[in-house]
Amino acid sequence: MIPKNHPRYESLMTRELIVEGVEKGITSMHGLIAQGRGEAFDYLIGEKTTESALMAEKVAAAALLLAKKPVISVNGNVAALVPSEIIKLSGLVNAQLEVNLFHRTEERVNKIIQHLRSLGAKNLCTKSDALIPGLEHDRGKVDSSGIFSADVVLVPLEDGDRCKALVDLGKTVIAIDLNPLSRTAQCATITIVDNITRAVPNISKFAEKHKNRNEKELQKLVKEFDNKKNLANSLLWTEPHFVYNQLRNFPI
Ligand code: ATP
Ligand code: MG
Repeated sequence: MIPKNHPRYESLMTRELIVEGVEKGITSMHGLIAQGRGEAFDYLIGEKTTESALMAEKVAAAALLLAKKPVISVNGNVAALVPSEIIKLSGLVNAQLEVNLFHRTEERVNKIIQHLRSLGAKNLCTKSDALIPGLEHDRGKVDSSGIFSADVVLVPLEDGDRCKALVDLGKTVIAIDLNPLSRTAQCATITIVDNITRAVPNISKFAEKHKNRNEKELQKLVKEFDNKKNLANSLLWTEPHFVYNQLRNFPI
């Protein structure tokens, strides 16, 4: 039992969720390692949403609302960490959910679908009748009426190859990835460098606020967003004064 007053309570609880995901058979063992890599970068930004991440989250909400056919991709880590939050977001922006696994087994796909359904998900794409060109068979499998035909895809914690393949298909790809240097972060259209546990609720908050804005305002937000520049801002932790401040302020 982790005491609530532990200075790193949230981070440790997040780990618990991933471990539970593995025990339930919805998260792969590799997911534990991916979470570890993410945590290391989260540590560097002080486990808080940065200004550049918040901006990307605002723009992502606008892009999802403007999309003709938005789809949210769900993998084993997403299903373990933010299942209800992702279902809520899909409702707010009228997006479909599609299970899309890197280490794909039909058993795990079905378990995640059941898990999401048990939490109230209704808009799930469950076919695997299309292939994303440029990816080997199992990693390229998608639903022809889901990710394959989507114009905007939200891919939290995606692999670099698959992110690039979706961009090459002409889609607007929104990535959530704590590592601003990963191939995914570098090649996505809109990159959110934040923990998925904070990013998804933030996108939902913006989606709610955006409902009071007209289409032109949302288009302006998306058009004026410079992903490369925003991504460069998310590398602030590489600067010595930032690291120094972090060391002074971080709860140890
Ligand atoms: P790439 O394939 O894009 O070069 P990679 O091989 O380092 O990156 P993968 O293992 O393919 O990474 O995907 C996991 C990515 O997800 C990592 O970059 C990691 O930083 C990120 N990640 C892991 N957990 C989280 C989380 N909770 N929130 C946000 N990002 C996370
Ligand atoms: Mg990878």
